[in-house]
Amino acid sequence: RRLAGKAAFVTGAGSGIGRAAALLFAREGAKVALVDINRQRMQEVCSEISTLGAEYAPLPADIANPLEVEAAYRGCLDQFGRLDIVFANAGINGTISPLELLTPEEWKQTIDIDLTGTFYTLKYAIPALKDSGGGSVIITSSINGNRVFTNFGMGAYGTAKAGQVALMKMAALELARYKIRVNAVCPGAISTDIEASSNRKPEVDGITIPIVYPEGGHPLAGESGRPEQVAKLVLFLASDDSDHITGTEIYIDGAESLL
Ligand code: NAD
Repeated sequence: RRLAGKAAFVTGAGSGIGRAAALLFAREGAKVALVDINRQRMQEVCSEISTLGAEYAPLPADIANPLEVEAAYRGCLDQFGRLDIVFANAGINGTISPLELLTPEEWKQTIDIDLTGTFYTLKYAIPALKDSGGGSVIITSSINGNRVFTNFGMGAYGTAKAGQVALMKMAALELARYKIRVNAVCPGAISTDIEASSNRKPEVDGITIPIVYPEGGHPLAGESGRPEQVAKLVLFLASDDSDHITGTEIYIDGAESLL
């Protein structure tokens, strides 16, 4: 088992990509701290993990609140006594709107959760990762804002997702001396509930804002990816199999971003 003896902290563990990673980490022998703002969905994933016989800790927190993130790490350390892996994954689409109509509050909500929340998740992990003699941090960015700019209306989201990659690179360089690796995954469209977190302004100047999906489906599979496929990449980055990889973003999009 590739994560035997390790302790992992997964944000957004109640749904989609975070849920798939939490379950895979548990199957690979890790103790898993599940962090989510949605307590009910987080508890449902905890029940799934308990059937695998793995150790877990439910830690409700809003990643945009630094006090709650810090408290969640304290809870993780109280229960597991160590920290080796951080999957900074929680995020929202936020408001999909042309910049002209995007309000300061809407901009702030997306940046606060997707970018600043990732910073808190990274920052408050550092002391515990140092104490463990190193570790692996994986951030869920996106093709949006990095390779794809055609999804009109995702100005705040794309800015946050590009910012996460810059943050990842800064952190990788700064933390290499502590044997802490930091990488990002950049998924294309993955079938999850994330659309439910979108606040879409449907029509502007009589034009409907499209989400642009590739014509004829995704090049590789003809359809969106699955959370379990992203989780396998995250497992690789979390495990010692990737022990010489840091400061890198890896695209997982079935070539969607190359169209
Ligand atoms: P999802 O909505 O299925 O899961 C996201 C989880 O994060 C939910 O359980 C939600 O409750 C939680 N969450 C939201 N805000 C939070 C907060 N402030 N604090 C704590 N938890 C919070 O979505 P998903 O698709 O699994 O998204 C996971 C990550 O993947 C996000 O960062 C998203 O931007 C990224 N991503 C998704 C896609 C896609 O197509 N699904 C593509 C590229 C990147």
